[in-house]
Amino acid sequence: MLDCKHATQLASQAMEKQLTFRQQMALRFHLLMCDACTQFTRQLQVLRKAVGQLGRHIENDERLVLSKHARERIAKAVAIQARQNDEARRNPDLDSTD
Ligand SMILES: [Zn+2]
Repeated sequence: MLDCKHATQLASQAMEKQLTFRQQMALRFHLLMCDACTQFTRQLQVLRKAVGQLGRHIENDERLVLSKHARERIAKAVAIQARQNDEARRNPDLDSTD
């Protein structure tokens, strides 16, 4: 049987992607037996819904829109970080902290 650590990991993953049939069954079976994980799963669903509503609220609030300059700076920083991550993945022996 799934332990609570793996059950909560699966519950979190289920928010992002479709679990395999086997994962769904293992999670359901665990939730039938475990009140704590059932509560955790419900809280995840509440949080997800709240974050979704907040996101829609923010998207529609013109006071909270980033300037074009800020968006460009963020996009540039993300691209630099992605390039560094890619290089680090290709050259795992190089120490980038020098
Ligand atoms: Zn549990």
